[in-house]
Amino acid sequence: MGRAALIVHGGAGDRPAAQRASSQAAVEAALEAGWAAIAGGALAAVMAAVRLMEDAPPLNAGLGACLNADGEAELDAGVMLGDDLRAGAVGAVRDLRHPVDLARAVMEDGRHVLLVGEGAARFAAERGIERCDPALFVAARAGAPPPADTVGAVARDAGGHLAVAVSTGGIAGKRPGRVGDSPLPGAGFYADDEAGAACGTGVGEGFIRTVLCHRAVERLAASAAAEVAEEGIGHLARRIGGRGGLIVLGRQGPPAAAWNTAHMAWAMRHEGS
Ligand code: ASP
Repeated sequence: MGRAALIVHGGAGDRPAAQRASSQAAVEAALEAGWAAIAGGALAAVMAAVRLMEDAPPLNAGLGACLNADGEAELDAGVMLGDDLRAGAVGAVRDLRHPVDLARAVMEDGRHVLLVGEGAARFAAERGIERCDPALFVAARAGAPPPADTVGAVARDAGGHLAVAVSTGGIAGKRPGRVGDSPLPGAGFYADDEAGAACGTGVGEGFIRTVLCHRAVERLAASAAAEVAEEGIGHLARRIGGRGGLIVLGRQGPPAAAWNTAHMAWAMRHEGS
């Protein structure tokens, strides 16, 4: 049994200092929303936190998503449970208000792990997931400062179960059809009750090439969260010159975060803290 814990991030990047307060405020509101839900389990906590961040214009997810080279939003999201390693994800979806809701539906359906494009849209319609006009994302970005990065949350509930959820608009100006690490278990997120859980933010290609979140979770079986987070970001930098951030949480003890960009918005809470 672990003590409950929650850590959330609103992306690692190089935002100017003047823009950091709004992303930090959104992350702290998400922490509150997630913590308020944690009695309902780790999944409830990460969903509450990520859904709230998908509504926060300063963050690069949902409403605040950055746009691709064609000026359109293509959104990725993922969710995973540590007890039975179930995972669900969506890539390059265009008309969902909360892409993380569809990732959860994919996981709960259980047949597949990752749905993209038109098939994902059809599954969303089948499951009654909230749709929206893709123009909403374009309008939300008009005149707004560039958003921070991906959002994510990792939780451990009082029963010792772990969950992770992540959502992103990807990288501004990306090639249409590009899918990053965020909907790829092992790369952008991973959870295993036997070891821990992790969520990444940064240039997704680097997280895919290093399968960084799975690597971090494997290490959480033997090492403390703070050490694992630092080692993971060090590995990303050393092996491929990658940049980004990681939030991690083990079976016991407090969560931890590490990043090698100028800034990462994040917040955490754990029982006993
Ligand atoms: N990892 C995300 C992606 O590459 C972007 C980010 O975290 O900023 O799609």
